[in-house]
Amino acid sequence: MGRVFVAGSINMDVVATADRHPKVGETVAGREVLYFPGGKGANQAVAAARLGAKTTLIGRLGKDAFGAELRTFLGAQGVDLGSVREADTHSGTAIITVAASDNTIVVVPGSNALVSAEDVADAPLAKGDVAVSQFEIPLPTIAAFFQRARSAGATTLLNPAPAQKMSSELLALVDILVLNETELGFLAGVELTDSDEAARIIGVARQLRARADQTICVTLGKRGVLALAASEEFAVPGRAVKAVDTTGAGDCFVGALASQLADGVPLRGALAFANAAASISVQRMGAGPSMPTAAEVSAVLG
Ligand code: ATP
Repeated sequence: MGRVFVAGSINMDVVATADRHPKVGETVAGREVLYFPGGKGANQAVAAARLGAKTTLIGRLGKDAFGAELRTFLGAQGVDLGSVREADTHSGTAIITVAASDNTIVVVPGSNALVSAEDVADAPLAKGDVAVSQFEIPLPTIAAFFQRARSAGATTLLNPAPAQKMSSELLALVDILVLNETELGFLAGVELTDSDEAARIIGVARQLRARADQTICVTLGKRGVLALAASEEFAVPGRAVKAVDTTGAGDCFVGALASQLADGVPLRGALAFANAAASISVQRMGAGPSMPTAAEVSAVLG
């Protein structure tokens, strides 16, 4: 059984709730302050570890109280933190205000911006492992990580979120690209929405594909996922559930898919598993705490 290596972001989300948002220059009294461990890298690593994969996170935490707290939380989820180093700055932090069901968010990358090619240089990747990354750490670091993974015979899995343009060299290093329809449209330079037909979405994915043996998985929220693989194209329909909070659904999906691929499960089965795992996560509040266990996913799959 292979391991999952995630090179990515770790954040503390600080949420203040109030009856209304302050105007510029104004102060309002809030109701409560909540702290949620987040960051796409951390969320995906937690999803994979909770599902039983041996999971190593590569990243950076600041020398602050959030850094210590995030380390404790991630360690308790079973994530190997031996490759999470300290940076001489604050930890990645999102400041979120929630009022009247609207939110405002300021994300400050902090230590995440300092994850370097040197940090990924000694990752003990081997054949059968899965190397996962997203766009909340510097792109040259991701390229160095994937180069190393490919030369070790590992599979590279990129979730290009939040969307930003990437070089054709980086795209060519990706074995499996997992993205939603908005991100696919952005990268391909076309407008796509979640009501677009599957045939059009697959057509755009085919246009974006960098290599004939590259797999592209397009997540479509409650519609499930579409896959364009080397020798097949197929859809995994969404599972009908009552969603209460879709925050982190994409991260759960990516972590679950990586855990299955590291376990040697073929793409179709791995995607069905990830789709079921993510459908469980949307029925719970939060990102990290909503990630399911393997037993919960097996119970859903029957
Ligand atoms: P986010 O940014 O909110 O984490 P995303 O846009 O990256 O999400 P989505 O396509 O919304 O990703 O969701 C990822 C996967 O989660 C879907 O492919 C599906 O398997 C599952 N999912 C999301 N929303 C629902 C839902 N309402 N019902 C069932 N499954 C869902």
